[in-house]
Amino acid sequence: MNTTDKTSDATRAGVEFDDPYGIIEDELRYQDGFDPDAEIEPDPDYAATLAPDPATQRRERVGPTGRPMPRFPVPRPPVEHGPARIIAMCNQKGGVGKTTSTINLGAALAEYGQKVLLVDFDPQGALSVGLGVNPMELDRTVYNLLMHRGVNVEDVLLKTVTPGMDLLPSNIDLSAAEVQLVTEVARESALARTLKPVMQDYDFIIIDCQPSLGLLTVNALTAAHSVIVPLECEFFALRGVALLTETIEKVRERLNPELELDGILATMYDARTVHGREVLARVVQAFGPQVFHTVIGRTVRFPETTVAGEPITSYASASVGAAAYRQLAREVLVRCHAG
Ligand code: ADP
Ligand code: MG
Repeated sequence: MNTTDKTSDATRAGVEFDDPYGIIEDELRYQDGFDPDAEIEPDPDYAATLAPDPATQRRERVGPTGRPMPRFPVPRPPVEHGPARIIAMCNQKGGVGKTTSTINLGAALAEYGQKVLLVDFDPQGALSVGLGVNPMELDRTVYNLLMHRGVNVEDVLLKTVTPGMDLLPSNIDLSAAEVQLVTEVARESALARTLKPVMQDYDFIIIDCQPSLGLLTVNALTAAHSVIVPLECEFFALRGVALLTETIEKVRERLNPELELDGILATMYDARTVHGREVLARVVQAFGPQVFHTVIGRTVRFPETTVAGEPITSYASASVGAAAYRQLAREVLVRCHAG
């Protein structure tokens, strides 16, 4: 893994700035003493009990994480909308399923009648692309919302193919915001301020974070009520997660006392391999009840949906992947209302 992933664009660019909350500087310090490799040691016995194979799951009536699977009832569509619960989809590692989970959790929630706003908060614009938008053709993006007074959410908002789900798109312009925000007052809360006027219009706002823990991600965590951390069920799944949880903890202490961890979402899980089950077992060992019961399996249907530019819930409505994100949506609704 590229260690600069953990460094913000601003620090990479050598920009000097004061850091009153110490969040960004602390991250850099962590890089020294942090041992990203102190993690997964395969233990097949363990995997067998915690992340059982599909036959054992059926026999013992447990879910893929090895815990009894609760029922997540199909929710009634809400009669009234808002105020929104803001969820940051966050992991400083790339390729773990943040964007895929943002699109498909959002679409599944919208199918259940929730009003959903997705925020593309990655200058790569993958969320926008995944919803059929060409980021290069956009005049106004989240960047303008953050940096220019007088630009309103309505000026940037796009409808998606999914009824009830809107998008605030981004493109490479957003990378400039990370540097430009540094000199702003209350720069950690620029996104929170931006979203305030539309809080009453939505039930869920999901922010697709970029793969770094820089100022943009700190903005997302400051705006959010809660965080979902997708983890790819691969060998280095837990690498860097300590750094992420530290960052969440610091944002909670210094900027956003309400911030909660909604859960850890295991993605790209292959139940047929011992390796996949070992990794999932390890994740369950590390995070216990914080791991979502819903586990997203690995399937080629997801890359296909990116090409199609629409959520799996409509592109392959009857697929296992669509069912998984619908179940996640129901689990999220239960967790939100229980909390
Ligand atoms: P991130 O936003 O964390 O970088 P993405 O959601 O873009 O990750 O996923 C990275 C790649 O993996 C994409 O090509 C995506 O289509 C693919 N992908 C995501 N989830 C799955 C899955 N469950 N099974 C197979 N491929 C997946
Ligand atoms: Mg992404």
